[in-house]
Amino acid sequence: MTAEKPLISARDLGAVFDVSKPWLNRMLALESKQFLTAVDTVDFDIPRGKTFALVGESGSGKSTIGKMVVGLQKPTSGQVHIDGQDLFSIKDARKQQAMRRRIQMIFQSPYASLNPRWRVKHIIAEPIRAFELIPAGDIDKRVEELLDQVGLAKSDGEKFPHEFSGGQRQRIAIARALASDPEFIVCDEPTSALDVSVQSQVLNLMKSLQRDLGLTYLFISHDLSVIRYMADEIGVLYLGRLVEVADRDTLFENPRHPYTRMLMDAAPHIDAFGRTAELSTGEIPDPINKPSGCSFHPRCNLTTDLCRTERPAIREFGSERARVACHLCEA
Ligand code: SF4
Repeated sequence: MTAEKPLISARDLGAVFDVSKPWLNRMLALESKQFLTAVDTVDFDIPRGKTFALVGESGSGKSTIGKMVVGLQKPTSGQVHIDGQDLFSIKDARKQQAMRRRIQMIFQSPYASLNPRWRVKHIIAEPIRAFELIPAGDIDKRVEELLDQVGLAKSDGEKFPHEFSGGQRQRIAIARALASDPEFIVCDEPTSALDVSVQSQVLNLMKSLQRDLGLTYLFISHDLSVIRYMADEIGVLYLGRLVEVADRDTLFENPRHPYTRMLMDAAPHIDAFGRTAELSTGEIPDPINKPSGCSFHPRCNLTTDLCRTERPAIREFGSERARVACHLCEA
């Protein structure tokens, strides 16, 4: 974990969902309730102006963490601190509103997040109006500034979302996120619906905005090449639990957890990996009935008896400040 004072701290974050069948069906089938632990004791910090990335296969809990950190979903356990304030303990409506302004989210699909019946200038202006950030007479000028900031023309404000390409729509979504003058943005797979050539343009835009505006990002992706480009620090999630956390260079140069290495072996297009596929990939286990001990053990070819019975704690490793949850990882 980093020594800098974090803007964002997630502590012991947990999310459990009741996924039981309706009562009558359970009674007839003599089944008990079922619970899905989507996020399990997740800890991370994000210093101001930095990017923490979460990577893992689908169902690993990445998006659930994103929703909790942005305040869209209350954790079952643990806390999210933003600039030292517990996000879910703020009761005063004005303070809640002030906190909401500081946090924004960019989703995978800009199609879903932009109202198709509104002109772009209204879509971007809405947060400015909702948070009463500037006098009404100054809003048009501010919208033009935001369009320019994301590489769109002033005249684009008059158009509707369907008149734009996917990459341009994501630029509109970014402009709308910036409209409330946020400090922290959760980016949930923001480029995975875009063509590769457009992806790099949007990622470059996000990086330059971070530099210019001092933004802090939680960046969620299943794509290691995107993660490598964007992140300062990376958390690898497996079945809702962080199994490895390290700064970008440490993780890519010396991945320690067998699951991290498996992910990298499955991404041959990332240069400098060059390691053979020594681990079997296998299927992701049923998240409702997770394997005992280390939940990665059915897919890991280093499994020992201990792995099947005892869950490895996440431990810190030396000067690199990496954390790894594996019985066989030595400092
Ligand atoms: Fe593999 Fe055991 Fe480490 Fe789990 S604890 S990743 S099963 S070696």
